Amino acid sequence: MSTITAPSSCGAVVKADGYGLGLAKVGSALSKTGCTRFFVATIDEGITLRRSIGAGSKIYVLNVTMVGDAAAELDDHDLTPVLNSPFDIAVWGTHCRSFGGGRAILALDTGMQRLGLSPSEAQDLAGATDRLDGVTIDYVMSHLACAEDAEHPMNEEQRRRFDALRSNLPRAPASLANSGGVFLGSAFHYDLSRPGAALYGVSCSTSASKKMKQVVGLKGKILQVRVVDSESTVGYGATRSVQAGSRLATVAAGYADGYLRSLGNSGHGYAAGVKIPVVGRVSMDLITFDISNIPSGVLNQGDDVELIGTHQTLDDLAGEAGTIGYEILTSLGQRYERRYIGNGA
Ligand SMILES: *Cc1c(COP(=O)(O)O)cnc(C)c1O
Repeated sequence: MSTITAPSSCGAVVKADGYGLGLAKVGSALSKTGCTRFFVATIDEGITLRRSIGAGSKIYVLNVTMVGDAAAELDDHDLTPVLNSPFDIAVWGTHCRSFGGGRAILALDTGMQRLGLSPSEAQDLAGATDRLDGVTIDYVMSHLACAEDAEHPMNEEQRRRFDALRSNLPRAPASLANSGGVFLGSAFHYDLSRPGAALYGVSCSTSASKKMKQVVGLKGKILQVRVVDSESTVGYGATRSVQAGSRLATVAAGYADGYLRSLGNSGHGYAAGVKIPVVGRVSMDLITFDISNIPSGVLNQGDDVELIGTHQTLDDLAGEAGTIGYEILTSLGQRYERRYIGNGA
């Protein structure tokens, strides 16, 4: 990623338990490759990451309530908040002024209406910048709504609003691009990009030339291979008929593991070089595949079925489930045995 955005730099977004892949592991692997700026969603995630990567790197917390002990907790764990509202600025500003100064990212809303200063709030701040006394602004940031669609007019519109709002505020480095934004070109890179999804192999750009390398694999173990005696139905709700002689493989994973229930009668796996369909509903702990197209005796109890991999990609599975790779990854359950391979793992 940082080669694409150079000379501007990259921070890694590792929120939601490192997009479901394990925050401590993902954080430490990225840290070993030289990443020094991280984004998490919550203070708790920040504390976990700080323990994993030690002192030195910047950990930015995107979503802080700033009530109760929030400011003190941020300070205790060397976490830097993203200030999303005048309230955040007031609380963190007061905290910083009484403890000898601090740092923050200042977030501006340029079109999502979720978090960040509205244009009028940014204007107010521009007229009263003493509210930021004691606070070093590491970056002014905003977030793109449609970055995965390179043709969407919203991208340029948000970039224009971002520049307009920043021009009235004290000068600070800027950050706009998420994964999709990285591929919108250097005008979107500013000083720091914030890729998340792309780091984990999730497709983040509609442009076909921007296929991500698959870095996550998921396998399920076959519990049973069955031959259907006579015409019958499979699973809860009897939603799928199977003919006599059909061969089925029952695999030990289910919606409790984040193999989404919407994949019932629509998902696919891969085994012995053959694409195999999910038949019937996905249960809590079990999936049934029709393996009639694989010669008898090839697949046996204890063998693996590829649920996500080079044949059945994360994006393929997400499409079949009617969702996006982000949701598939962040839904991955805790029952899977997780193996981390390669550099830094
Ligand atoms: C989640 C998030 C990102 C990363 O988005 P991806 O699409 O996963 O690259 C960047 N910035 C903010 C503010 C986010 O919330």
